[in-house]
Formats: sequence, structure tokens, C-alpha cells
Amino acid sequence: MKVIVAGAGIGGLVAAAKLKKLGFDVTVFERAKSLDEMRYDWHDDVNPDVFEQLGIEMPKESFKKKSWTFIAPVSSKARLFRQDEKKADYSVERRPLNKTLFDLCEGVEFKFDEFVTGAVVEDGFVSGIVSNGIEYRADFVVDSLGIDSPLRESLVKKFDLDSYNPDEAFMAYRAFYEKNDKFTAEYSNKVYLKYLGDKGIAWVIQDNDPRLVNVLIGRLEELKEETLKDYLNRIKKENPTVGEKILRGGIVCKIPVRYPSTMMVANGYAEIGDCAFMTIPMLGSGIASSMRAADLLAKTVENSMANFKEAKEIFGKKSLWNYQCAVYEKFGAEHCAVDVLKRGVMKLDNEIVDYILTSELLTNDEVGRLASGKPIKLSVKDMIKKVAIAGAGRIPSLLKVNNMLTKSNAAQKYAKKIPKKYDSKKVEAWRKKLKAFYV
Ligand SMILES: Cc1cc2nc3c(=O)[nH]c(=O)nc-3n(C[C@H](O)[C@H](O)[C@H](O)COP(=O)(O)OP(=O)(O)OC[C@H]3O[C@@H](n4cnc5c(N)ncnc54)[C@H](O)[C@@H]3O)c2cc1C
Repeated sequence: MKVIVAGAGIGGLVAAAKLKKLGFDVTVFERAKSLDEMRYDWHDDVNPDVFEQLGIEMPKESFKKKSWTFIAPVSSKARLFRQDEKKADYSVERRPLNKTLFDLCEGVEFKFDEFVTGAVVEDGFVSGIVSNGIEYRADFVVDSLGIDSPLRESLVKKFDLDSYNPDEAFMAYRAFYEKNDKFTAEYSNKVYLKYLGDKGIAWVIQDNDPRLVNVLIGRLEELKEETLKDYLNRIKKENPTVGEKILRGGIVCKIPVRYPSTMMVANGYAEIGDCAFMTIPMLGSGIASSMRAADLLAKTVENSMANFKEAKEIFGKKSLWNYQCAVYEKFGAEHCAVDVLKRGVMKLDNEIVDYILTSELLTNDEVGRLASGKPIKLSVKDMIKKVAIAGAGRIPSLLKVNNMLTKSNAAQKYAKKIPKKYDSKKVEAWRKKLKAFYV
């Protein structure tokens, strides 16, 4: 049976390797001209557990991340968040990671310099793709084309899939500047929350490589050239270690920052990774999620193969629905909770965000949970403690924060109630109610 994987990014490569192992004839379509010309030339933070869980070797160029220092949006006060050394993320070089995953794809056919524009649909089944104007047929199409997948967009109406709103994408400029050695950074991993009071973040990180300073500027809105210029000037003024020359990166990219898709499968079709909005909504750390999703998809297909013989059954929506359930079970429901928090924090007054961050209100542990994209739960006792710390004058703000936490926990709980068997009526009711948390 034939499988097409659209996109040779992180999720696509893992899916291709795993589906090939199950015995399928797998072809990957990628717009880059070669593996060496893939877009991202930098390193990203990844939870190392994923490599262990999937039995994939972490590239040797990886290094342990340092603790973060958050800069508050109004007072510019700094707060150090000391991370648990045992649970620290690793910064993983993207190109060696691509190479590691590519090397797992023995027997997979790769077609580079291919621009996928849409799908072939026959009798309610996705039965191929259109790339560079040519139709290619398959029994199953895996969509790992990222947030703006033209494949997904061509199917949104036909199969009632999710697209996204402009404020559910994070526009991020990332560049590695030559370090200006005349200066020494006061904080090595500096993260500005709601930079300049805006809906977004910025960071200036004294990289592992002593010659580089890693800079990111991002907002939940369009990042116009003029705005970026202003921000960069400001960042450079506040951080004189940032030199003039860009040595790596220097591009603006888009990261999904919303709850996962509520419909990531159709007959003969499944979405993984950024295409299904699988990044952590506050952070955009989607590498581990894309890898996990590819693994869950392959496991679902393997299970279906034990029960069915025909491609239309193995890759039918009802079978593939089990994959979506597994995603929500393993990490999707947690992402739903974090999205509620993200939306809430963006709506809070900057002054409140500043207070929460700089006071003793949140423990190191709580900041740690938020920083790694995990929701926090407060008991009544915790709340009383926090009121005592903040004082009665802050009760209205604390109530807002508490409402946000309660809603976030409710979203997670509800997301986990995803119908375990595909039943169109039940699924539609679940989707509708889940989406209501984000209106
Ligand atoms: C600035 C920035 C910083 C990030 N930092 C982190 C981090 O620290 N940690 C982390 O875990 N994640 C991070 N991410 C997110 C991470 O990059 C993604 O979540 C992850 O790469 C998703 O994998 P994917 O396979 O879904 O998509 P991708 O890896 O983006 O792969 C999509 C592939 O599809 C190809 N493609 C796209 N359109 C077409 C088309 N029409 N035809 C053919 N091919 C096409 C692309 O060339 C690409 O190879 C960051 C992203 C950005 C932009």
C-alpha cells in the first residue's frame, strides 16, 4: 500500500520512518531543494524524554539549557527561574536532528523541490496530492506541511477541518548575532514577557557558542518591518552584547500557538505537527509534539492493520480517529489548558502581569510549570496563601487569575472527554463545546 508524507520536517520524517517500518511504500514530498537547504538553521529546546521514548538518538551537538531570567513588562525587574537540572530541556541543533531522522528513513523515497498545493479527493476519500502541478496517488496521505499547509486548507471545507485565526499564530524573528566582546551579559538567558507591553515575547540568550547571541522577537500579530526595526534597536540598546553581524538565522517565521486541531483526520488523511497546531500554545515547542504525534499515528495504523486488511478500512476516518484520541490523551488536553492561560495572560493588564512575575506570588515551581508549558492547579489553601501574600487590595486581580486557572483546568478535563469511538454526533458536540472555551 502507498503512503505519501507531505513535508520533510520533524513530524514528516518520523512518520515516514515509522510507516516504512510497517511495510508501506512511502514517498516524502518536500519543497526544499535538499535536506541541507531546510529553512531553520539554529537549535531548539526539546524535552530529552522524547528521544528516549521513541528510541531515537539525540544529536551529539545538543546541550543542556540554562535557567531563565524573566523580565517584567512594566518595571523591567528581573526574576530568575531556577530550573530543575534533572528535568532541563536540551537545545538541539536542527540540521543534525533532520539528518538523524532522515537516516532512519531507509527505503523511503524522497522527492525534493516539490511544492504541494492540494489534494486529490475521490468518493469522500483523500487519494493523493497535487505537487508541482502533477497528481500523485496513495492510499494514505500524511500532512506535515506546517501551519500554512495548502493541503489542509484545500480540505478544510470538504472535511470540516480546523484552520486558524490570525491571533493564533506567533510571528517570530530569530537571529544569532555575533557577540560584542566589549560587554558581558548580566543575565545569560533573558526572556521579556509582553515585550514593550505588547502581546508577545522577546529573548536575548548568551548562547552555548560564546561567539553568538541568540535573539528572538515575536508577537501574536503581524510583525511589520518597521516594528521589527524599532524592537531590534531597543533590544540592542538594552543588551549591548548583541553585535551587528547576523551569523545564523535572521528570518521571520510563523508558529501556531493555539489548542490542537479538533479534527485532524479524514478518510485517507491525517495531520501531524504544526499543521494540526500541536505546539505548546504559550511556547511553541512543537518538536517533541510532532515526533510524538508521528509515533502515535504509526501505532494507530499498526493496530488497524491487525484488525483490517483493506486500505479503506485501515485508513478510514473511524480508524484514524484513534490517533486523534491518543494525541489528546498524551498531550493535546494539556495544550488546551495552556491555551486558556495564554489567552488569559494576554488579556491581563501589564501591571498585573508585572506584579505576578516579580512578587513572591508564584513559587519557582509554579513559574517552572508555566515556563515548560504545563498548567498549574491551585487548591483553596494555596489561594488563601496567595491572598495573604498579595494583600486584600489585590483580591480582584487574584480572582481574575483564579478564574483563568479554573477555566484552564476545565478545558483540560473536557478535552480529555474526547469520544473514544468515532460517532459523528458525539464528536461534533465535543468539538463545539471545546471550541467554546476559546471564544
Ligand atoms: C523561531 C522558531 C523557534 C522555535 N523554537 C522551538 C523550540 O525551541 N522548541 C521546539 O520544540 N519547537 C520550536 N519551534 C517550533 C518547531 O519548529 C515546530 O513545531 C516543528 O518544526 C514542527 O514540525 P512539523 O514537522 O510540523 O513542521 P516543520 O518542521 O516546519 O516541517 C514542515 C515541512 O514542510 C515543508 N513544506 C511546507 N510547505 C510545503 C509545501 N507547500 N510543499 C512542500 N513542502 C512544504 C517545509 O519546508 C518543512 O520542511 C520553533 C519555531 C520557530 C519558527
